Amino acid sequence: MERRVKVKEQGASISWLDRKLVAAYGDRVRPRRPPDPLDELVLTVLSQNTNDRNRDRAYQSLRGRLPTWEDVAAAPREEVVGLIRVGGLARQKSERIQAMLGVIREREGTLSLRRLCGLPADEAKAYLRSLKGVGEKTTAIVMLFACGMAAFPVDTHILRVGKRLGIIPTRATADQAHAHLLPRVPAELMYRFHINLIEHGRRVCHPRKPACTGCCLSIKCPSASKAE
Ligand code: SF4
Repeated sequence: MERRVKVKEQGASISWLDRKLVAAYGDRVRPRRPPDPLDELVLTVLSQNTNDRNRDRAYQSLRGRLPTWEDVAAAPREEVVGLIRVGGLARQKSERIQAMLGVIREREGTLSLRRLCGLPADEAKAYLRSLKGVGEKTTAIVMLFACGMAAFPVDTHILRVGKRLGIIPTRATADQAHAHLLPRVPAELMYRFHINLIEHGRRVCHPRKPACTGCCLSIKCPSASKAE
C-alpha cells in the first residue's frame, strides 16, 4: 500500500515553491477575524460539486432567508432545498446540513462550533470527521481557515499542480495527497501555500494546457517539458 503512494523526491522544495509563489501572487495572511467554524463548515458543504460563485449564491440565499443556524435547523426540508438549489445537489446538501446541525446542538448544547478551535488538532479533526458527509477536505478547510490549525486541504487544483511539481505522488487520491503533504508543508506556510497553489492552478497550470512558458516554477518543475 505504502509503495503505491510513494513519490520519487525530485524537483523543488516546498519552501522554494512557496517563495516563488509569494513573489508571483503575494503573501497571504489569515484575516484577523477568521470565519466562524460553523459558517465555514456549512459553506464548505455547499461548495461540494459546484463552483465558488454558485456556492456563494446558495449560502447567501440560505442566510438571507434563515439568518440563524437555529432557523436553518428548524426550517422545513423543502424550504432549505429551495433556498440552496442554485448550488446543486440541494436535497443531499440540505439533509446533511440539517443533520449536522442536529448533532452539533446535541453535543454542544447550542448551535456553535467555536469550542472546536480550542481543541487539540487531532480531536478537532475527529470531531469533524464524525459528522456525516464531512470528509478529509471539508475537515481540513474548517481547521485551516476557521481555526488556523495545521491542515492542508487538497482540491482539484492542488492535486493536479502538486503532481506535476512532484510534491504529490502521481497516483495519490486527494485524501492520500493530504496525508502526504501534511508533514511536509511547514505549518506556518500552509495557509498561503494552499491559497497560492490554487491561484497558480487557476492562472497558469491549467488542467489541459498548462502555460509552462513563463511559469515561475518551470525551472524546477519535472513536468515542464511534458506538460506543454
Ligand atoms: S512548469 Fe508547467 S506543469 Fe510545471 S507548474 Fe508550471 S505550468 Fe504547471
